[in-house]
Amino acid sequence: MPKCSFCNEDIEKGTGKLYVKKDAKQLNFCSKKCEKNMLKLKRVPRKMKWVTKKKKGNKE
Ligand SMILES: [Zn+2]
Repeated sequence: MPKCSFCNEDIEKGTGKLYVKKDAKQLNFCSKKCEKNMLKLKRVPRKMKWVTKKKKGNKE
């Protein structure tokens, strides 16, 4: 099962998105949110509260 390159969640088959960079590296994204943060905003996943706190039930 592929994992989201940004938030590291498991991606179920048939969902999510595969993105291939110019250097042929493949990135998997579980959602557009992750895709946008990684590619457009160039954010670091471990600095994002909604990534690190995702499984604890974040209210933000
Ligand atoms: Zn994700």
